[in-house]
Amino acid sequence: MKPHRQTKIIFTIGPTTESEEMLRRLILEGVDICRINMAHATHEWTKTICRRIRKVCKEVGRDIALLMDVKGPEIRTNSREDVIELKVGDKVELLYENDPEIKVSKEDGLVIGINYPLFHEDISVKDIVLVDNGLIGLHVDQIVENRVFATVKEGGPLGSKRHINLPGVRVNLPSLTQKDLADLKVAFEENIDFVALSFVREPDDIDLLRSFLNEHQSRAKIIAKIEEQQGLKNLEAITKASDGVMVARGDLGIECPLEELPIIQHKMIKGAILEGKFVIVATHMLESMIHAPVPTRAEVSDIANAILEQSDCVMLSGETTTGKYPLECVRVINKISGRMEALMTPKLTEGLDLKHPKAMMLRSAATLAMDLKNTSILLFTRSGYLPRTISSLRPNKVPVFAFTDVPHIYKSMHIQWGIEPFLIDFDDENPERTVHQAIEILTAKNWIQQDEYIVTMTNLFNRGGTIESIQLRSLEEMG
Ligand code: PEP
Repeated sequence: MKPHRQTKIIFTIGPTTESEEMLRRLILEGVDICRINMAHATHEWTKTICRRIRKVCKEVGRDIALLMDVKGPEIRTNSREDVIELKVGDKVELLYENDPEIKVSKEDGLVIGINYPLFHEDISVKDIVLVDNGLIGLHVDQIVENRVFATVKEGGPLGSKRHINLPGVRVNLPSLTQKDLADLKVAFEENIDFVALSFVREPDDIDLLRSFLNEHQSRAKIIAKIEEQQGLKNLEAITKASDGVMVARGDLGIECPLEELPIIQHKMIKGAILEGKFVIVATHMLESMIHAPVPTRAEVSDIANAILEQSDCVMLSGETTTGKYPLECVRVINKISGRMEALMTPKLTEGLDLKHPKAMMLRSAATLAMDLKNTSILLFTRSGYLPRTISSLRPNKVPVFAFTDVPHIYKSMHIQWGIEPFLIDFDDENPERTVHQAIEILTAKNWIQQDEYIVTMTNLFNRGGTIESIQLRSLEEMG
């Protein structure tokens, strides 16, 4: 028996998954990362959840990683108690408003309060303002000083604190808000493994976040959520600056024409793999399973497509925050990935920049493992370079077991395609002892068999120094 899934699963925690019992079941079912969405989470709840997950992981003997998703620059309507129905043709005014109540004035029609003081400076006449995931569409007719007048083009109910999208508009909000900075302090306290930044527009956004993490000695990996047009325009540079990217299809589907989404997803996955970065496909993966125990046929195909495109991860949102069937969702992904990954032809990613001799050795190790069939790769890493590189090579059907003695490198491997991570102590006096320890762990798990080969990439001592080596081992020969 082998670890069966090369595509990793991120689930977003919420009311239906926060209990110890449900976490235990999800972790045993195979989720790899828990996402905490700071659009909804309080600091106290976040701390409780982080501690609870660590406790449950210890109890069940399987680790998962923690991801904090911070909101970034976001415009919202003000809070209100009632819901008003906006009808096509209605005239409205959008106004920065400290008073959270919507005001209605006889002359001007409805006034919709918003939380962004410079809105009138960023927006232009003829721009489109989308409210509540695009449910409501407004056309900007006139701007008079700080008052923005618009006509309703798509009507709908307007509730409290609804998200506003401005397709194609460069918003002058800072990429990290005061709320984000406060949220990140909790991430540091709780030793969060990944930080996802929303609405990334340029590589500077990532650099700023990285400086903040460095200042606080955080080793968290940075995920750039690509969810609007400017981020897409700067995709290459953002991918280079970050550790990984997220195809945030929820907002992307509002900011861009829907028919562009599959193209953007394809481009982002390919670009990230070639850059040696990880990539996550997010949102609406199993949306219907929020209410139903089985997915739609279209959702099955969508997940299969993300797996065939070799995304590192798929992400669940509403399905596991408020959905009624979180465990069933994970089981569905397990089934689909089991089937799709078995179909993949064994071949390596072409076009990777493998100039480093160690990277070339890895390619040879992966080729050897694929040619031999039923062969695993065993890696030992301290910097994380080996697992990151072999993951980019995407050796289909080859289990890769990566051992490290560095806790943050161990956690970073939870997101990488095809990598099964282990945290052990290394014996620096005798690397062979470390290899034996790793093989004992894998044998106990039944993940390697007597009659199979293992391709091992490890250091050997030679004349007082160490040399890199690729070795072909079998349990039979090792005795
Ligand atoms: C998205 O828009 O797809 C997304 C993942 O972002 P969020 O859920 O934070 O809105």
